Amino acid sequence: MKKVAFYTLGCKLNYSETSTISRMFEEKGYAKVDFSDKPDIFIINTCSVTENADKKCHKIVREARAISPDAYVAIIGCYAQLKPQEIASIPGVDAVLGAAEKFRLVELLDGFVRKPETAVHASDIEAANKFNTSYSINDRTRTFLKVQDGCDYSCAFCTIPLARGNSRSDSIENIIKIAQEIAQTEVREIVLTGVNTGDFGIQNGIRVERFADLVKALDEVEGIERFRISSIEPNLLSDEIIGFVAESKRFVPHFHIPLQSGSNKILRLMRRRYLRELYISRVEKIKTLMPHCCIGVDVIVGFPGETDEDFKETYQFLNELDISYLHVFTYSERENTLATEMEDSVPQSKRAERSKMLHILSDKKRRKFYEDNLGNDFTVLFENDVENGMMHGFTENYIRVSAKYDPMLINELRKVRLTSINDKGLVEVEESNQELLHHH
Ligand code: SF4
Repeated sequence: MKKVAFYTLGCKLNYSETSTISRMFEEKGYAKVDFSDKPDIFIINTCSVTENADKKCHKIVREARAISPDAYVAIIGCYAQLKPQEIASIPGVDAVLGAAEKFRLVELLDGFVRKPETAVHASDIEAANKFNTSYSINDRTRTFLKVQDGCDYSCAFCTIPLARGNSRSDSIENIIKIAQEIAQTEVREIVLTGVNTGDFGIQNGIRVERFADLVKALDEVEGIERFRISSIEPNLLSDEIIGFVAESKRFVPHFHIPLQSGSNKILRLMRRRYLRELYISRVEKIKTLMPHCCIGVDVIVGFPGETDEDFKETYQFLNELDISYLHVFTYSERENTLATEMEDSVPQSKRAERSKMLHILSDKKRRKFYEDNLGNDFTVLFENDVENGMMHGFTENYIRVSAKYDPMLINELRKVRLTSINDKGLVEVEESNQELLHHH
C-alpha cells in the first residue's frame, strides 16, 4: 500500500480541501500517514496570502526530500495557481496542479511515478469554474464545511480572485445531504466556510440561491448542535440573517465581519463595497438582538495612502465599537493587484507600529468582552486537547474556556457559569447543571 502525507498552508478552506483530497486517496487504497512517516507521496497545499510563500514552499519540499528521497512531491493550492512555473523550478518538485486540477490529482498523476520532467497541470484561472465539495474531519469536535469558493469582488489588495477564480457554490440540497452525513459522525459543530461566504448561491455563473436560505435550511438538520458562520462581508450580512441567527437554536451568536479599515477614504481606495456607517449599523443590529454576541473583525494596517490621521480614525472607530476581538493583517504588496500601483506606500516600520497598536487593542477588547460575560451561563463544547492537566473549549459566543481535564468531557456540551479570567486570559467556569447535554 502506498503511503501519502499532506502539508497544508493557509486558511480553513485549504484545510477542508486537503481533508477531502486525502479521503480521495484513501478511497483509492492509499494509506494516509504523517509527514515524517516516510511517505511515498507528498502533497503540499499552498497559500498565496502566506508571507514568503515561495520560501516556505522551498523549505517544505526540502524537508520532504530529506524524509523520503525518492518520494513523489506534488504542489497544489493558491500559490501553485498563481506561480506554476516558479514552483515547477523548485528542485525536487514532481508536479504542480492549479485550481481547476487539484481535485483530479489522483487521476492526473496516475501511479505517481517520478519522471525527469516536472508535470505542470495549471490552466488559466477561468477554468476553475466547478464547485468541489469539501469538508475537514481531522478533529472530531468540529468540521469546516466549504459551501462557497472564489470571489467576484475586486478588493485592491487581494489575489484570491486570481488564485481561486469566480464565485461559485454548492447547492443547498447537496449541503444538507453532507450535513446529514456529518451528523452521523461524532462531530458537534459545523463551521460554514467560503472565500466570500455571504455571496453564496451562484452556480454556473448564475445566482440561483441565497445564503439566508442556506442558513434556514441547515437550522433544520438534526444531530448537529452548532453551526458557526466563519466570516461574512458586512454588506452581505442582512437584517434577515442577523434576525434568523438571533432566533435560531443551532446557529451560534458569533460573527466574523471583515472591516479592513475604519476610514472611508481607505475603504474607497481598497474598493470595498461599504463605508464605515454601514459597518456600525451591522454591529448595532447584532448587539440589539444578541447582547452577548461575539463579533470578530479583520483589519489591514499600512494600506497605501494610509496616513497617521487615517490610522487614528481606524483606531478610534474600533475602540468605540462594541466588538470582541480583531484579526490584524499587515498590508503587504502582492503581484498583479491594483494596490501595488498605488502611491504613498507606507514604510514597513509604520506598518509594524500600527499592527502592534491594534494587537494591544484587540487584547483589551477580548478581555472586556470576557468580563462583560462573567456570571452568565453558557454552553461549552469541550475539545480533545490536554495541557498541563487542563482542557479547553469554546462557548457558543466564542469565549475560550479552561477547565480541569476530565476525559468524560471530551466532545461534550456542558452548561457552565463563567466565573473568572485566569492569568492566561482564559475563562474559568463552574458547572451550572450536572446533566450532560445531548449525550450521544
Ligand atoms: S471580498 Fe475582497 S478580500 Fe475577500 S476574497 Fe473577495 S476580493 Fe478578496
